[in-house]
Amino acid sequence: MANPPKLSAEFVVSSPNVASCPDEKQAEYAFIGRSNVGKSSLINMLTSTKGLAKISQTPGKTRLINHFIVNEEWFLVDLPGYGYAKISQTERKKWKEMINSYLLKRKNLVCTFILVDSRHEPQKPDTEFMGWMSMKQLPFVIVFTKTDKLSKRQLEDSIGNYIKKMLESWEDMPQFFISSAKSSLGRDDILSFIRENNKHYATYLKSLA
Ligand code: GDP
Repeated sequence: MANPPKLSAEFVVSSPNVASCPDEKQAEYAFIGRSNVGKSSLINMLTSTKGLAKISQTPGKTRLINHFIVNEEWFLVDLPGYGYAKISQTERKKWKEMINSYLLKRKNLVCTFILVDSRHEPQKPDTEFMGWMSMKQLPFVIVFTKTDKLSKRQLEDSIGNYIKKMLESWEDMPQFFISSAKSSLGRDDILSFIRENNKHYATYLKSLA
């Protein structure tokens, strides 16, 4: 498929809780992952906008829900990462409450992208989070990041191993994308996925009218 044209992407607002998020008029896609997984880089790569999501923000510092509007059509949401070793139990609890309530209450949330480093085996914070999403019947997909750091063979082995480990406790492997912020691998597929879902969302909205 041809490269999707450059997108327009603009920062809208940072919200401390779901109640202060923007109107739920547009389809929305959330991005989440452990600190340093490459979330900011992926967001910048998808939108071709350097510095849109700040790369390597101080871990634990930003605990806000960040909304960006893309093509004046859909919201891209940068959620604060999880799994910081350094934050206190109280902070962790606050984060969990904020994120869980956002994920459960946000009516226009179409899908959450859960980012995992393509070099690693399934990590407990990620699989626990996926388990919770699945229990709550909240749609999500996995994005394997930083694939340029592996050879083709290593990547196949690593993803194969990830799938194998997941299938030890999951009935099916969740849908996944492989990506590299460096080479833009995965950009077309992820944006096509979003475009398709936007169409379904528009049809769904019409059916309610
Ligand atoms: P975040 O904390 O999840 O937002 O992660 P960042 O986007 O800040 O990335 C963390 C580090 O990984 C930075 O040094 C990035 O340059 C690097 N990084 C992120 N994505 C990629 C990628 O696709 N390829 C490579 N080689 N490095 C990446």
